Parts: sequence; structure tokens; C-alpha cells
Amino acid sequence: MIDLHAHTTCSDGTDSPRELVNQALINGLSVLAITDHDSIAGWQGAKDALRLDLQLVLGAEISCLTTDGISVHMLGLLFDGDNLEMTKMLEETRDGRIPRMVKMIELLNAENYEVSMEDVYAAMPEGATLGRPHLADALVNLGILKSRNEAFEGLLNNDSPFYVSHLAPTPEVAIAQIRAAGGVAVIAHPFASLRGQILTDADFAPMVAAGLNGIEVDHRDQSAVERANLRTIAKELGVVVTGSSDYHGAGKLNLLGENTTDKGEWEKLEAMASQRRVVQSDSR
Ligand code: AMP
Ligand code: ZN
Ligand code: FE
Ligand code: FE
Repeated sequence: MIDLHAHTTCSDGTDSPRELVNQALINGLSVLAITDHDSIAGWQGAKDALRLDLQLVLGAEISCLTTDGISVHMLGLLFDGDNLEMTKMLEETRDGRIPRMVKMIELLNAENYEVSMEDVYAAMPEGATLGRPHLADALVNLGILKSRNEAFEGLLNNDSPFYVSHLAPTPEVAIAQIRAAGGVAVIAHPFASLRGQILTDADFAPMVAAGLNGIEVDHRDQSAVERANLRTIAKELGVVVTGSSDYHGAGKLNLLGENTTDKGEWEKLEAMASQRRVVQSDSR
């Protein structure tokens, strides 16, 4: 089983990188990608935890904003973690999340939701990429909300008046950067309409021209119709089709391996990286 999208405590997941690797082994995965939001901080911990014949794909889920202001997530896999431009892009996005959170808190405070930046930091694991789920956790800790899920269905939804976007590269810039760092780019859940505004059919060709390698089709936030349309688009544009869980530990309902990528599609994707960068334990 190949699962190419999972989060840890280095962003908004609740398993440490070591726990994620252990969960992958327990669930019988053969290939696991670690893809924290705008961060590669979990790579070392995941590598150190590798055992048996699990193959680890090092990656990140890069927050992007289209020129129309639509929030898009780009999975970068198998890129060189020492690439300076890439490191800078991820760092700038993480930095931009702080003033964005301050603004969201100001908007909430103005409507008498009493939550502070300190509350958010108290709910966030050290070194994590700051995100709305940590604000959700803070609101839960304060007794204002019951769960992350409730937060995303209401107060913190993309379409809510409290939503603020943060500085992020366009998808094309992120794709070009991932490819320049030797990796492959897969657009994450592009038709997940439940989350808010989504891309249209015409948005994919420019991304493929920029170097997009694949489309995440099988994802719990995409309906059967949305998946079928994406499969057609992938075929027409000649890019790889993936499926993945977007596991967040206890932070979301998504179960590791609930959606998976075909072996043949994975092999095509891996062959498009500049080097064979999959990590495997050599202590077998
Ligand atoms: P942000 O990047 O700060 O805008 O936060 C968005 C993140 O919140 C996404 O990456 C999702 O993983 C997470 N998220 C979205 N919906 C939910 C939900 N219903 N429950 C938990 N986390 C969610
Ligand atoms: Zn997330
Ligand atoms: Fe995402
Ligand atoms: Fe994700």
C-alpha cells in the first residue's frame, strides 16, 4: 500500500514523525510520504524511526495562492532538502502564517470570541507550522468549540468572515521550485469543494506547463464525480494519478492508507525525480 500524503506534529498532525512511521508499519504500508505543511522539520525523525522494508518519501505540502486568491495545496515529493531556494520559500510561507493568525484572532475578538495568540501557541507543538487547526484546538481548550471538525465547519472555514489568507507562492512558482530542487509536484485535493472555492478544469494546463507531475485524485474530500473528472483531466494532460489519506493522527478522521496510489503510477512519479531519493532502513 502506497500512501503519499501524511502529517505529523511538525504541522497540524498529532503523531510525531516517529509515531507516523510506526503507524505506517502497523497498517502495512510499503511506501509512506511525510508531507507536513510548509516544513521539512519531520524528515530526520521519520528517517531515524525507519525499520523493516518501509520506504519513506520525504516531502512537504506547500500552501499556495492562485492569482485569483484561491487556496491550493501542492505536494512536493523527493526534492533536495538542502536546496536553499526551496528552504527559503518554505520559511517565508511559515513566517507569513504568524501575522495571518494575529488578524484572524483580531476578527474573532471583535465578535467577542475571547482567544489570544498565547492560547494558540499553547495548543501548538513546539516547532510546528502554525495553522488554523491550532487555533481550533485553542478554541476547544477554551470550551468555545467542541472539535477541530466543528471549527472547520463553521468559524474557521475558508468561506467564513474570520478567514484570512496568508502570503504564499502561486502554484506555478511552487511547482517550478519543487522541480528545480529535483523533486516531483502533485497537486493535492484540487476539487475538494467542501473546503471552499476550488480550481476549474482550465487551471490545470498552466500547472502542467510549469512542470506538474501528478494529480491527487483519490482523497476523502473529493466526491466520486470530482474524482472521475480529475481522472479525465490527468489522462488528457498526461500526468500521474495518486490517492492518499492526508492522515493527521487524531487531528482528523482520515485513516492512514484509506486511499492509496497504484504501484505503476508511483513508479512513474518516482522516475521523474532527479535522483532516487526514497529512504529505506539499511539495518534489516
Ligand atoms: P491553514 O493551512 O492554517 O489554512 O489550515 C488548513 C488545514 O486545516 C488543512 O491543511 C487541513 O489539514 C486542516 N483541516 C481542514 N479541515 C479540517 C477538519 N475538518 N478537521 C481538522 N483539520 C482540518
Ligand atoms: Zn493539515
Ligand atoms: Fe491539504
Ligand atoms: Fe494535507
